[in-house]
Amino acid sequence: MMQGTMLSSKDLIELEDKYGAHNYHPLPVVLSKGEGVYVWDVEGKKYFDFLSAYSAVNQGHCHPRIVNVLKEQAEVLTLTSRAFFNNVLGKYEKYITSYFGYDKVLPMNTGVEGVETALKICRKWAYEVKGIPVNQANIIFVSGNFHGRTMAVISGSVDPSSTTGFGPYMPGITIIPYNDLDALKEALAKPNVAGFLVEPIQGEAGVVVPDDGYLKKAKDLCAENNVLFIADEVQTGIARTGKLLATCGNCSCSNGCENKPEIKPDILILGKAISGGVFPVSAVLANDEVMMAIKPGEHGSTFGGNPLGCRVAMEALEVVKDEKLAENAEKLGIVFRNRMQQLVDKSDLVTLVRGKGLLNAIVINDSEDSSTAWDICMKLSENGLLAKPTHGNIIRFAPPLVMTEEQINECCDIIENTIINFKVS
Ligand code: PLP
Repeated sequence: MMQGTMLSSKDLIELEDKYGAHNYHPLPVVLSKGEGVYVWDVEGKKYFDFLSAYSAVNQGHCHPRIVNVLKEQAEVLTLTSRAFFNNVLGKYEKYITSYFGYDKVLPMNTGVEGVETALKICRKWAYEVKGIPVNQANIIFVSGNFHGRTMAVISGSVDPSSTTGFGPYMPGITIIPYNDLDALKEALAKPNVAGFLVEPIQGEAGVVVPDDGYLKKAKDLCAENNVLFIADEVQTGIARTGKLLATCGNCSCSNGCENKPEIKPDILILGKAISGGVFPVSAVLANDEVMMAIKPGEHGSTFGGNPLGCRVAMEALEVVKDEKLAENAEKLGIVFRNRMQQLVDKSDLVTLVRGKGLLNAIVINDSEDSSTAWDICMKLSENGLLAKPTHGNIIRFAPPLVMTEEQINECCDIIENTIINFKVS
């Protein structure tokens, strides 16, 4: 009925409101085009994208190399299911395992499926290798986490908007405070602990960066207790935090730290930018001792490992290397935080800037109304920059990593002018 008709933003928002479930609360901006660091709305207004689809579009919107590979593969073979082999999956498996330095990968589609997969592998390993009595395995989560929306994952959440009304929850989970090694030691001393699941930086919680050394010590404590250290790098991975992975060491090569990881997770979960935001691809990586606990028929997904996703992911990961996106994120992150620190120093509205690489957030003064971050984001969008509040009065800033220094300075000018001129209406 509406094909060919030009609908306004208002019309399109009304359509979603009427026919779509109300499970999101988007900013009232309707996008119809993206290229690099920019997106355009249906009325043609151009914006800097400072969310990057929650860090899925690290390589920039519609990266031509990634889109070309998608088109090429889409004309040849898209899906076989895993009932048969296909001529791309094995090459992708070899590629991604050597890229990240693991023996094996288990391919899935969305980030939360990656997390579910990791939890299942961890339980299997606990029973088959570690020898935990059947159905007794426990996995430690941390408070403030965000791992997605499935039943298992929300069972380890402390966020009421994720959990309320969805019980009963999955057993076998212990929740401890984030960034608290004493709490971890205590939890690890309990019997039947199989794994410790952690985000290296908590993205959805408001870009919460743990103390230096926390992750390394946590990994060591897990190793001492024969417990799997499971890193959810769905948001922090793929160069976002200035390194290939947030668990990488201090080298600054754009191919990250496959050769010298600071912390090598026993299970690494990746998603989002692994495909440059072009196709849902997630991956769970582990060495044989852990991964081989899963046997044929015990886990899978119709789309996981499809040739389209595999080709797209290989190209998206090549782009990360070729365009040195980790170095760029590291360099521009410093520029961004310095500029935001100047803003913190001169505005009462903003009290703190924090983050790593190009995963950053500003914290709005506690004395402000709880809707202030939202209102600032509305003003930012009027001024040509799209960002979204995270939990609480916090605004996350995560632009595509293909940004230039000139562009980030232009964006800092927009943010600064918006905040300085912000008046609560
Ligand atoms: N894990 C982390 C750390 C995330 O930030 C997210 C999404 O924001 C997920 C998992 C879930 O990913 P998806 O929405 O692709 O299922």
